[in-house]
Amino acid sequence: MTAFALTYAGLLAIIWLRYGLVAGLFHGLLWMRPEDRVRGVRLAKMRPTRKAIWREARTSFFVSFIYALPAAVLIEAWKRGGTMIYDGTPQGLLAWLYLPLSVLAYLVLHDAYFYWTHRAMHHPRLYAATHRTHHVSKQPTPWASFAFSPWEALISAWFVPALAFVLPIHIGAFLVLLTVMTVQAVCNHSGWEIYPRRFLDGPVGRHLITARHHNLHHTRFARNYGLYFRWWDRLCGTDDMSGDPMAAPQPAGAGARARARAA
Ligand SMILES: [Zn+2]
Ligand SMILES: [Zn+2]
Repeated sequence: MTAFALTYAGLLAIIWLRYGLVAGLFHGLLWMRPEDRVRGVRLAKMRPTRKAIWREARTSFFVSFIYALPAAVLIEAWKRGGTMIYDGTPQGLLAWLYLPLSVLAYLVLHDAYFYWTHRAMHHPRLYAATHRTHHVSKQPTPWASFAFSPWEALISAWFVPALAFVLPIHIGAFLVLLTVMTVQAVCNHSGWEIYPRRFLDGPVGRHLITARHHNLHHTRFARNYGLYFRWWDRLCGTDDMSGDPMAAPQPAGAGARARARAA
């Protein structure tokens, strides 16, 4: 077996394990305990059905074969010193400051790529072939976080690995980034908002995309296309939180204005 095949097989196992552990953890904590013991606001009207979980998990399992490919290319290139992923102890204050800044830069760039490709995939000409698989989950469960069609996976899987060829990032920061990406994806599909209201309305929280934002994308289909930050949605008039069970009282017509801008 070649080194590449071994790396690919190892990555597949890691991706499945990571998905199973994180989605399983969220499912267990949010949906398998008495509701009064869950700290959060339930967004999903229906409890996850076995049928929906099985469909989402099956789709995620098969699409992992695509996600593991660019990741395996990256690891093989990294072993040969051909990427911008570095290791060792950072030297000096700037090198330490760069660790969180690099994670933020990756998230900002990934968010921009996601927003525009996601919005493009909602175009009627592309939707059926690319994005419909993900939206079969009208009310997603934690297991929907990875449920994409092969075409959508091909569009999205390469971006972060490709960034690692051009934008320097420490291996530790890269692992943090991958963890943030996974937890964020599972969290946003979990059917519960777990962040407290005070944080969501605060100076940081109001710029972040959490479950209540993405849940509205699934239940109402359009608007709220972003991944991590609400900047692109706000800039392009697609940020619409009307109907949000956690929303602060809005001035009359605010939701309608957002919808009119997005149309
Ligand atoms: Zn969508
Ligand atoms: Zn989704």
